[in-house]
Amino acid sequence: MTRESYDVIVIGGGPAGLAAAEAAAQGGASVLILERDAVLGGILNQCIHNGFGLHYFKEELTGPEYAGRFIARVREQGIAVKTDTMVLAVTPEKRVCAVNTKDGYFELDAKAIVLCMGCRERTRGAISIPGRRPSGVFTAGAAQRYLNIEGYMVGRRVVILGSGDIGLIMARRMTLEGAKVLACVEVMPYSGGLTRNIVQCLRDFDIPLYLSHTVTQIEGESRLTGVVVQEVDGNRAPIPGTDMHFDCDTLLLSVGLIPENELSRGAGVEMDRRHSGPMAYENMETSVPGIFAAGNVVHVHDLVDFVTGESQRAGAAAAKYALGGPAAEGRTVEVKNGEAVSYTVPGKIRLANVEKAVEVFFRVNRVCGPSTVRVTDAGGAQVASFKRERLAPGEMERVALPKVLLEKAEGAITVSVEEA
Ligand SMILES: Cc1cc2nc3c(=O)[nH]c(=O)nc-3n(C[C@H](O)[C@H](O)[C@H](O)COP(=O)(O)OP(=O)(O)OC[C@H]3O[C@@H](n4cnc5c(N)ncnc54)[C@H](O)[C@@H]3O)c2cc1C
Repeated sequence: MTRESYDVIVIGGGPAGLAAAEAAAQGGASVLILERDAVLGGILNQCIHNGFGLHYFKEELTGPEYAGRFIARVREQGIAVKTDTMVLAVTPEKRVCAVNTKDGYFELDAKAIVLCMGCRERTRGAISIPGRRPSGVFTAGAAQRYLNIEGYMVGRRVVILGSGDIGLIMARRMTLEGAKVLACVEVMPYSGGLTRNIVQCLRDFDIPLYLSHTVTQIEGESRLTGVVVQEVDGNRAPIPGTDMHFDCDTLLLSVGLIPENELSRGAGVEMDRRHSGPMAYENMETSVPGIFAAGNVVHVHDLVDFVTGESQRAGAAAAKYALGGPAAEGRTVEVKNGEAVSYTVPGKIRLANVEKAVEVFFRVNRVCGPSTVRVTDAGGAQVASFKRERLAPGEMERVALPKVLLEKAEGAITVSVEEA
């Protein structure tokens, strides 16, 4: 059987896939994007609010506008696209198995692959809320799709569990659509979302945020009629006697995102448990040579602008691999978590492959006030340090590490945060 082949195949046509494909084509590669949805754009198609593109385009766009600009660029580059196409498997030899209604089952060969499958939402099952199973309990992203794409109003009296960005955005959206949002309830002592979303989506609409609280009971037979909310202690256990009752017909869950890595695992890619995505080198190559990954499939990003930058690096590197062969060998520096840091991307840096500097993304695991982000080597010597006024788990951080400093570092480097 003769298989079609491309220099670079990009799996997923969201913002990560679009940016990776454009960069790979600019690098001279023949590129194909495979997308399971009917249209390109990924999750941005349902994000009709503004706030996208402030970093990348220096202007405020809606999600569809942001995606639209990259879709136009992909078309201008003449990049091949197959929508309505589900990728079923990727092999370490870079064969891609997919299916759609036009071609049926088919296989393709690539010299390099970029994995851009995004992430999915955690559901009620993942957090085990006790109670009945009435309708009216949605993930915030599902409700966002019903409302913004399908045109259905999902409820009138709403409680939101989880203060991640999608939940916050939906608190505002539901209010603007005429619903009453009674509360946003967060089990942690801090919000999981961007500060700007707390202000613009909750405070501006007088929606109370209950930190260190959770939903402990779901009521109703065919439709949700109410929820019980309780305060939790330091171990996230409900505190007896703190019950509050809310009469509501809708509960939206914004309780975390899970990178979609079934294909990555099938391809034998090493996973980094710190962020539940593939371990990535400095150019977003995974542990399988020629397979790259970018965007939310690697780690959950706070802003799509950073997805774009990371994916452009991955796409350019994939084209370089496809047309020029593997990255230069040489010393590899592992990047570890230190105090208050929950993960870093990349997980490893190949120095011979760095031009001037490497951008390291990380998140903190607690809210920190004025702090120093310190990067140290295995001997404890300081490689670099950066001042920050405030760090929070909901906001991704990044530091640029110059190659000259990395070359002087002994062994692995550690990123930690020291509060003043
Ligand atoms: C519900 C929701 C709302 C969000 N709201 C915001 C927001 O308001 N602001 C913001 O900055 N960020 C928001 N985000 C984060 C946003 O997802 C990222 O900023 C960005 O969209 C990530 O880009 P991506 O390309 O990595 O993932 P996605 O946009 O999720 O794109 C992944 C694409 O891969 C496709 N795909 C997956 N598996 C396969 C397969 N096997 N075969 C073929 N195609 C496949 C999917 O259909 C999808 O189109 C939201 C995320 C979610 C889940």
